[in-house]
Amino acid sequence: MSETLHRFLRKRKLDRSAKRHSKGRPGIGKCADAGYANGPFVPDLKSAKLTHVNLRWFLIPIGVVILPALIGTLAGCGGPAVSPTDQTLLRETDQLHARLEPAVVERQEPRLRRYFEQLSSRIVTAARELDQQGIIKSRNEGSNEWLFSKEIDFHLVDSELPNIYTGGGRHIYIYDGLFQQCRNEDELASLFCHEYAHVYGRHVQKELKRDASVGGDDGLLVPFATLKFTPAHDKTAEAIAFNIFVKAGWDPARYADVYRRLLQQGPPGGLDAALLRERADGAHELPAGALNWAQPPVADDARFAQLQAETQAVVAAAPRNDRVELLLAAFPNCLTPPDAPAQVSARQRLFPPPAAPSENKWNKGLQGAR
Ligand SMILES: [Zn+2]
Repeated sequence: MSETLHRFLRKRKLDRSAKRHSKGRPGIGKCADAGYANGPFVPDLKSAKLTHVNLRWFLIPIGVVILPALIGTLAGCGGPAVSPTDQTLLRETDQLHARLEPAVVERQEPRLRRYFEQLSSRIVTAARELDQQGIIKSRNEGSNEWLFSKEIDFHLVDSELPNIYTGGGRHIYIYDGLFQQCRNEDELASLFCHEYAHVYGRHVQKELKRDASVGGDDGLLVPFATLKFTPAHDKTAEAIAFNIFVKAGWDPARYADVYRRLLQQGPPGGLDAALLRERADGAHELPAGALNWAQPPVADDARFAQLQAETQAVVAAAPRNDRVELLLAAFPNCLTPPDAPAQVSARQRLFPPPAAPSENKWNKGLQGAR
């Protein structure tokens, strides 16, 4: 543990009481909270006033050019638009989500849904503030607003596998097999922050391999089932995730607990020990200002255990859907090698290779040699 971290833990108690006295002070946190509640755009009144003064000088000669931009700004639509790359991915991941919908558990469990919404709110609010301060950076790709909106949706899916997955759009899926392994909110939040960091970093936009020659449902699903993050992306995601986790108020000393414990108890369901060890041992420098960020978790340990038990009952009663289960099994995961045997076999069952045309059967030997 670094010395900075020790200092943080010693001062944590004092800072919590200092924080109580500073409640109500207008600050970045308050603005971002309001922005989250009221929609993605937070108007900056000071700059709006300056724009208004300058307008007198510019309106007459070039009013035709300025006016549409000004109207856009005042209406809350200023700044860059969502890029075509993001738009495509958002559309595709919404379509993917429609295929996974039968396995989504929190729809039937309003308390869990509300809980995930609260975690999402904390994560995107923290991410927005860090982004504005330049502490974390996404790839330069049009508007970032959707990354911080309440549309970022964490889902629980009915699968015993210990996975967490995102297609890079609004949706992030934790499998019940991993959710039930978490001992407390810090462990769940750590996993959520990592996966969100891939969304925020636009890693899928970089790595998704679409194949125009594959049509229909397979054309949509295959790229998401074969998605691989590079080790460099995972490293970046870890750095972003740790900052967001701490900024959102969770305990930095518990950030890697989930990886340490999965490692100690023997990695379940094919999780890769080397990758878990890398996460468990990863050193993170506390960001400046972290002393003021500590917050109690949304759910204390008892409430967290209760949510898990309630969820387990819903999962046990849910009808099975073979195709969705197979799709969930085919998805890669940041904690397993990209081509784990179970994933490969699920992919082969979902997307069997097309039968060779009969006229080619005499060339089979030759093709095999290529
Ligand atoms: Zn990852």
